[in-house]
Amino acid sequence: MGNGKSIPIREGLWGVNDAGEIALIGSKCTSCGELFFPRKQNGVCTHCQGRNLEDVRLSDQGKVITCTVVYQRPGGGFYKGSVPYAYGVVELPEGVRFMSLLVSDDLESIKVGSNVRLVIDPLFEDEEGNQVLTYKFKVVK
Ligand SMILES: [Zn+2]
Repeated sequence: MGNGKSIPIREGLWGVNDAGEIALIGSKCTSCGELFFPRKQNGVCTHCQGRNLEDVRLSDQGKVITCTVVYQRPGGGFYKGSVPYAYGVVELPEGVRFMSLLVSDDLESIKVGSNVRLVIDPLFEDEEGNQVLTYKFKVVK
């Protein structure tokens, strides 16, 4: 491990409240109630075209909707974490769905409907020795 610090893969994906609890930050449309994750950067709701979006903390628990286990490093260099790994679509109780890396001691045991909980994990070490962190969802037994 290098002497670098821990840095998020992208700013604004998650936040820590006063109690030290980590949550993903989404956007909620105050006109139609639609939720988005990651946050809408341009401030326009793609559901109703409304322009009143507010940041909301999302639930840290959800369930697996789809899951794929990858055994070989994909080409193109866009994925810099370790292999094998699992990823899929996670749905939170609020109804918002998005892609996430999935974590389990046994990747093959991850099933549609598995309950998962948010974790912030190192993904890779960058050129300066910084630990680059990302959000993942870990299977809870
Ligand atoms: Zn809307």
